[in-house]
Amino acid sequence: MPGIFIVATALEGSLGRSGLELVGGARTLARPLDLEVSAAVLGHGAHLADAVDELHAHGVGKVYRCDHPALTAGQSEAVLAAVDPLVGRERPDIVLVSADTVGREVAPRLAYRHRAALATEVTALDVDGTVILARRQVYAGRAIATLAITSRPAVIAVKPRALDVPERAPVRGTVEEVSANIPSELRLQVREIHSERAEVSLDDAAVVVGGGRGIGGPEGFKLLAELARVLGGAVGASRPPADEGWVPITWQIGQTGKSIRPNLYLAVGISGAAQHVAGVSGARTIVAINKDPEAPIFSLAHFGLVGDYRQIVPALIARLKDAAGT
Ligand SMILES: Cc1cc2nc3c(=O)[nH]c(=O)nc-3n(C[C@H](O)[C@H](O)[C@H](O)COP(=O)(O)OP(=O)(O)OC[C@H]3O[C@@H](n4cnc5c(N)ncnc54)[C@H](O)[C@@H]3O)c2cc1C
Repeated sequence: MPGIFIVATALEGSLGRSGLELVGGARTLARPLDLEVSAAVLGHGAHLADAVDELHAHGVGKVYRCDHPALTAGQSEAVLAAVDPLVGRERPDIVLVSADTVGREVAPRLAYRHRAALATEVTALDVDGTVILARRQVYAGRAIATLAITSRPAVIAVKPRALDVPERAPVRGTVEEVSANIPSELRLQVREIHSERAEVSLDDAAVVVGGGRGIGGPEGFKLLAELARVLGGAVGASRPPADEGWVPITWQIGQTGKSIRPNLYLAVGISGAAQHVAGVSGARTIVAINKDPEAPIFSLAHFGLVGDYRQIVPALIARLKDAAGT
């Protein structure tokens, strides 16, 4: 039955926040367009049952479950091979994909194969009559473009952390097991994944301490990690520290990095380039620490501390520890 079809991957063991964000996006579109929402959940192992339950708990009635050993982290070719025939069979009006590492590779290929309209890196969804309005950042986050999607089918890739996780709305759903015809020799094979797991995940942290080129090297990030620990938060970075290898690439925040939505973002030694700011515009409060009073980050920050971070951050840590009595 035509409708909204969510590609919900559980390649790393769970549906994750971005899968539920897609459900939020689907629910925004479903009522005004009078469309039903279904989802394909793709992955391998027992945890897939939990992912199906999560989808039902958030209002997705029909779930197609595809369990295959090749459906693991990073395997975009396997995801495409699994989901492509389903889209061909079900012929949905709208396909929603998360614009994560895998989704960025899957969405344009799906659109090409099904002659669908394509909107990528979408940060907000709305409906005007029968037209879907998809917003995305352009000019390195300096402006927001609204794409009016008038044709069907349409593939929409939504940037992780851009949409809210919807309230639970349990339904008694159905599950259809679907088999995947995944070639045994994939052209692209992910053999190993190296990831640095911080105590608090950057994706979900309420407090993020971001370090920039001004931190000067990996040693300085140890100080930021201490500040993040005291605040119960996570450390992130602008692009130069990731490029220099001072921090893992997964810590990069911005246009080509992660979008974050913490309550508090501390930008330390970061000038405030548009490409960085594009990833932190969802932060509720921004505090900048920079030795240059003219740094552009101060025009965005709610609070600013002008000075050398090597003096300010240790003083801040000491005050916070004092206040906490530790
Ligand atoms: C296509 C494209 C995509 C990009 N994507 C991203 C992205 O996703 N994320 C991103 O961050 N960037 C991205 N960039 C790069 C971006 O344009 C900037 O170059 C980058 O954000 C600058 O990083 P920065 O602020 O850490 O460094 P700088 O601009 O060099 O700023 C360093 C700051 O540190 C301050 N400072 C120096 N020493 C100290 C000290 N001791 N104490 C306090 N302050 C100090 C300086 O006053 C300065 O303001 C992208 C660029 C392009 C072209």
